Amino acid sequence: MKIAVMAGDGIGPEIMAEAVKVIDVLRRDGLKIETESALVGGAAYDAHGHPLPPATLKLAQEADAVLFGSVGGPQYDTLARELRPEKAILGLRKECDFFANLRPATVFPELAEASSLKSEIVAGLDLMIIRELTGDIYFGEPRSVTGEKGNRVGINTMHYTEAQIRRIIHVGFKTARQRNKRLCSIDKMNVLEAMQLWRDIAIEIAPEYPDVKLEHMLVDNAAMQLVRNPKHFDVMVCGNMFGDILSDEASMLTGSIGMLPSASLDANGKGLYEPIHGSAPDIAGKGAANPLAQILSLAMMMRYTFNLPEAATRIENAVRKTLGSGLRTGDIARKGEKVCTTTAMGDAVVANL
Ligand code: NAD
Repeated sequence: MKIAVMAGDGIGPEIMAEAVKVIDVLRRDGLKIETESALVGGAAYDAHGHPLPPATLKLAQEADAVLFGSVGGPQYDTLARELRPEKAILGLRKECDFFANLRPATVFPELAEASSLKSEIVAGLDLMIIRELTGDIYFGEPRSVTGEKGNRVGINTMHYTEAQIRRIIHVGFKTARQRNKRLCSIDKMNVLEAMQLWRDIAIEIAPEYPDVKLEHMLVDNAAMQLVRNPKHFDVMVCGNMFGDILSDEASMLTGSIGMLPSASLDANGKGLYEPIHGSAPDIAGKGAANPLAQILSLAMMMRYTFNLPEAATRIENAVRKTLGSGLRTGDIARKGEKVCTTTAMGDAVVANL
């Protein structure tokens, strides 16, 4: 198993160091893991003048999976758009054809109080949102603003090919199969032709997965159900725009941005795994960052790229045990609770492994 390690900027290197400790334990216990590191984002721009230098891209292409930290920082905000650190993620997604974004929203019972919803609604929540990344209104043509001031027209086009829909729906079914075998396909077929095609294809594919229960839901209803009864869902599969919005809504259910991992996968299960949060420049270098999203990203990698669910569960259980022992970084501590450092949290996970 070859893992490309790309820590990036801000808190990236601090939280990555903790995930690497976890890799070391897995390796010690017999998994044959090779790692190689590369600069990415602002760090790569500083050293090589580009956020995604050729050597970094080559490593991503050669590796079986990429463990990515976070990129960005205020010092890069005035650079030309194509040189900004965030371009590195878009470049990796495009060049490696990572078309399926998996974002779990899991609420560890120990942290149910951190949600803005009542704890009984979210305690034990464990849902997965799958978002298509290459199609939809973000890429569709035509797109333009035309006309004179006072009469301007803005146009974007929802565009999906059958092949794009098919491959993401398959990811939805396969993911549901590895979980609780329920898939909810999100669309807006009542008003959009492209979404009627989405639903038709989901229905067509369903007989290939007789063990998975397929349900359809209009996106407006899904947005409502996510706050009303989020535990209704196991896996949700969405187009690019609806997935963008619903996955952010779902992440707020958990109450902590420092806890949530994500994956972007290609058709063969190769993937880029990263926390959903950014580089947190406000706390970088202070030893205050929560490393758990990074560590849980590694667990996702074990499950979805390397097909090692036992290794994934082992890491997740170590995280759970660590939270159970009362350890809290600043982002998940309640008022008055003692706060630990990034390193202390990582060390505790390693001890619990
Ligand atoms: P952010 O996610 O970096 O931070 C938002 C807030 O959450 C901050 O208060 C931060 O301290 C806190 N936070 C985030 N992660 C944390 C962690 N692990 N532990 C404790 N607290 C944590 O979002 P932002 O401030 O809007 O963006 C900062 C930079 O990150 C920007 O340059 C942005 O473009 C970039 N960004 C990168 C990615 C990525 O690398 N995938 C994603 C989002 C934003």
